[in-house]
Amino acid sequence: MRTWCFIAGVFCGIIAAVHELSVTQSILDIAQRHAEQAGARRITAINLVIGELTGFVDDSIQFYFDFMSKGTLAQGAQLNFERIAARVLCHACGAEYVPPNSRLWACPECDELGSEIIAGREFSIASIEIE
Ligand SMILES: [Zn+2]
Repeated sequence: MRTWCFIAGVFCGIIAAVHELSVTQSILDIAQRHAEQAGARRITAINLVIGELTGFVDDSIQFYFDFMSKGTLAQGAQLNFERIAARVLCHACGAEYVPPNSRLWACPECDELGSEIIAGREFSIASIEIE
């Protein structure tokens, strides 16, 4: 999983692309293993939970997936994404809040910086649908 990066936006973009390739491969491997164990003929859909801070782009994961799944049980499967919003915890005052879409997350209650991310980095397979 990609670690969130505040500074090097371009560099992180490249890292994200590499990571999308490798997470897509992982999704495919895990889904295939479960489908084989279940005796499925094919995988019709894979439901993913993805935090918005992962930086993963739905379309590019689907794009890689379509390419990598050719000739496998998962060929033609639809990827569904459930997005988890970012949430952070302020250590200064204990407030939990949804960070605004900027790089400096000042606490709305006390104005402190440097809060801890408590949601938004998730990446997992919730379920797969098979025939
Ligand atoms: Zn605070």
